[in-house]
Amino acid sequence: MPLIHFETADSTERTQIGEGLVRFAVQAGRLETGREEGKYFLNHADGCGEDGTHIAPGDAFFFHTETGDILCRDHGEERSNEE
Ligand SMILES: [Zn+2]
Repeated sequence: MPLIHFETADSTERTQIGEGLVRFAVQAGRLETGREEGKYFLNHADGCGEDGTHIAPGDAFFFHTETGDILCRDHGEERSNEE
């Protein structure tokens, strides 16, 4: 299952991730480091890959580890039903 579900986004721009996701974030060109709040972050400022919906702080969202797409809750759930 390449689709990772995040319960809550930290901000519109980025969400902190654990070390296990770092290589996928790098592949997707979405890794952010060097911030005071934490070590690794996934950048999702471009919003949902399907409709451009921005991920609001506290929103659930999805990260597709193979395509590098960010998906809003609705599109992420849709995609996970297809796979
Ligand atoms: Zn969407």
